[in-house]
Amino acid sequence: MPGFDLLFLPGDGIGPEVMGEVKRTIAWFNAHSSKTIDTDDDLVGGCAYDAHGEAISDAAMDKARAADAVMLGAVGGPKWDDVPYDARPEAGLLRLRKDLDLFANLRPAICYPALADASSLRREFVEGLDIMIVRELTGGVYFGEPKEITDLGNGQKRAVDTQVYDSFEIERIAEVAFDLARKRGNKVHSAEKRNVMKTGVLWHEVVTRLHDEKFGDVELEHILADNCAMQLVRNPKQFDVIVTDNLFGDILSDAAAMLTGSLGMLPSASLGAEDKTGKRPAMYEPVHGSAPDIAGQGKANPIATIASFGMALRYSFAMGAEADLLDAAIADVLDQGLRTPDIMQDGMTEIGTEAMGTAIIEALDRLSA
Ligand code: NAD
Repeated sequence: MPGFDLLFLPGDGIGPEVMGEVKRTIAWFNAHSSKTIDTDDDLVGGCAYDAHGEAISDAAMDKARAADAVMLGAVGGPKWDDVPYDARPEAGLLRLRKDLDLFANLRPAICYPALADASSLRREFVEGLDIMIVRELTGGVYFGEPKEITDLGNGQKRAVDTQVYDSFEIERIAEVAFDLARKRGNKVHSAEKRNVMKTGVLWHEVVTRLHDEKFGDVELEHILADNCAMQLVRNPKQFDVIVTDNLFGDILSDAAAMLTGSLGMLPSASLGAEDKTGKRPAMYEPVHGSAPDIAGQGKANPIATIASFGMALRYSFAMGAEADLLDAAIADVLDQGLRTPDIMQDGMTEIGTEAMGTAIIEALDRLSA
């Protein structure tokens, strides 16, 4: 049977709890599909610091490089607030992103009809919403040099961050966005600030050229990033795929996410470049953190992590039909009125992490029968 290798890095806090439900979901797919997913486990974050004195070990990094995909839970918590900066839990996450060169961050914002009333916008604006934000993750102002604070000696300080992009970085992220659009609504909005930023001018030029050369069949609209933010809350359903840089992507993806309700519902994928064999480094993780306030209480919503596994099915394992089935199972459970506390509404039934995992597996059984 063709197989894939998936490395689990559950991490800290609610990470292991929500990942447990993914493991049960994988067992279901292994029993019902012609492809198998083999799994291995390792440590990242605070638990890795406790075991090895660093946020991720070289051995775990080797496993991550060898695997077809990595599933990460969440890292961090008050226990590790005072560990040395280089060994802080987030350093494990950053090393994974950097060493695997995961330059494309995919953040879907999907509004399940059953949760449309939980949005801050009226139901008619968000029901059926399905946006994919493609954020450049390894360049731009978060990494550009110089990046410093200097003492001007007159009681003043000066802080500098540098926004820098080379054309190849823009081209490869735009290519991901156009490719994705072809499999969805066939429309890309490219968001930048070419009116005030040179990186925006280059972004616009490179995206336009790539579109002319390779993706003329995809509808392309350029939009200023500030207008994009306004349009996201004015008329979000006009968007299909939005491609943007690291800084604007950070902000726009969080704004889009909140159109859809709770942090406990939001999956993500981070992808690298395909190698000569067609293998693409990939890491899948929920958008939320380790939620120390509810860790160990069986209350965490596992849907963000299960939906992240759904993205792995789609983007790493070429199991699109299975990914559709999993999305349908999640929607079905919500339609039944089952809710973890973070998405609880009047008249619904409150359940915990494990019961939510069980309900999704039962829905998979029913929908595939
Ligand atoms: P958080 O996302 O962990 O929690 C924010 C709020 O949302 C909390 O009230 C939490 O209970 C709730 N929440 C989050 N996920 C939930 C889920 N699946 N189900 C139900 N409720 C959920 O953010 P925070 O409180 O700012 O950070 C806590 C720790 O997580 C910190 O150490 C932070 O550095 C870390 N963090 C890690 C990541 C990551 O691993 N990718 C991301 C963000 C924060």
